[in-house]
Amino acid sequence: MYILVNGEYKKRDEVAIDLEDRGHQFGDGVYEVIRVYDGAFFAMKEHMERFIRSAEEIKIDLPYTIGELTGQLEELLRLNKTEDGGIYMQVTRGAAARKHLFPGKDTRPELTAYPIPCSKPAKEQEVGISLSLLEDVRWLRCDIKSLNLLGNVLAKQEAHDRGAYEALLHRSGMITEGSSSNFYGVKNGSVFTHPANNLILNGVTRMKVEELCRQNGIEFLEERLSTEGLVSLDEAFITSTTSEVIPVIKVDEGKIGEGIPGPVTRKLQKLFDELIAKETKVVEK
Ligand code: PMP
Repeated sequence: MYILVNGEYKKRDEVAIDLEDRGHQFGDGVYEVIRVYDGAFFAMKEHMERFIRSAEEIKIDLPYTIGELTGQLEELLRLNKTEDGGIYMQVTRGAAARKHLFPGKDTRPELTAYPIPCSKPAKEQEVGISLSLLEDVRWLRCDIKSLNLLGNVLAKQEAHDRGAYEALLHRSGMITEGSSSNFYGVKNGSVFTHPANNLILNGVTRMKVEELCRQNGIEFLEERLSTEGLVSLDEAFITSTTSEVIPVIKVDEGKIGEGIPGPVTRKLQKLFDELIAKETKVVEK
């Protein structure tokens, strides 16, 4: 496997990350996961733009333009012969003596990227999943795709221990998102989801689903849902880069709608599959 390290391609055993890298010690960095279908990146532009924004928000100066970085990731795919899977990319503030204050200008950000296995969660997409409701105890800048994922990790584990596929997070009874996904409710044919503000990550899949709704006459409303309102939903689903669109049929002991995937969710799954096929059409390489 080839790994991109600050513009160079290395074998895994040649990669050395400093003990005092700020990603390692403070979670001081940001990341992206980009899906690859049929040897082509899906939604590359959106992921790159979010990556640049996340880095800017935490004041990391990326040493590359979007164009340069895209070229490097394309080369990484080619070297690894990745067909179906994903690329994980992160940048940290770099290595410096362990102090909270930012290091001086001579400390260079550490940018790494490598291929990760990813495949369609076909069974979950077909039959649907259950979620477990948990308090959202994360910080107030969930819009930044930060390496600090402790709140997300603890929630995902707790949900898993309770037998659920994913956590459904709420702040004082208002639903925000999943631990690694966005959440949507469907009522009378309209899709409801939390506004893209500081309390959620504006998912790339969410942006695509919004676009698909608008193009196909499905009302897409950025309105918060309450935990009490879950019982009156007709359908629910989650989205993420690796999950795509997965129906939610249960939250803890409560059924969503009929307790089976609903028609609006099914329609969005189909539209999303078509979008993937369209955007990652085999191009001559
Ligand atoms: N929210 C959180 C907290 C996430 O970690 C993710 C996964 N990256 C998402 C939402 C979905 O984002 P995307 O569709 O860009 O994968």
